[in-house]
Amino acid sequence: MKFRIGAMLLVMLGMSQFAFAANERQFQWPGKIRAAVSLSYDDALNSHLDQVIPALDKYRLKGSFYLTLSNPSVATRMSEWRAAAQRGHELGNHTLFHQCSAALPGREWVQPKNDLDRTSADQLKDQILLANTMLHAIDGKRERTFTVPCGDQQAGGVNYVEMLKSDFVAIKARAGSGVTADMMALDPFGRIPLSTS
Ligand SMILES: [Zn+2]
Repeated sequence: MKFRIGAMLLVMLGMSQFAFAANERQFQWPGKIRAAVSLSYDDALNSHLDQVIPALDKYRLKGSFYLTLSNPSVATRMSEWRAAAQRGHELGNHTLFHQCSAALPGREWVQPKNDLDRTSADQLKDQILLANTMLHAIDGKRERTFTVPCGDQQAGGVNYVEMLKSDFVAIKARAGSGVTADMMALDPFGRIPLSTS
């Protein structure tokens, strides 16, 4: 797969762990924590199993691995992904087939069968929910996060990410990195307003 987001560093994310100070609308991390860093890796690459996870384990860090379920590493190395999850790494949903829009500049690599413009939002949602079932079979978890392949939110001209909000606890809608300036204003379903993308 030519499109690789690779490692992304998202500082001060951790949606399920935040707490609020009593009687004031001010965000506080638990205890004396001043910030959180999220390390995420997309596409279920062999290098994640061979290099990234051993390095994270060495330093007792946890990563989030967004699996494209059709990637051969899932079928051939499933026990290793399962073991990583058992050691505390997160397995996230990155769709079955990593469809992206072929119409955008620089997208000559997108195969017609994986053209997001030719996939309906309803079809894609069904595939993504099936991916959740497959991930449950690997790690046993029901609570899941999702990362949007290529940052493309339109399937067949319809915003499919809007249709997934009830199925995920958080969605990363655009590739990139940066610091969340205001945790109180953080949208757990994307760092950009979904309605304008
Ligand atoms: Zn990807």
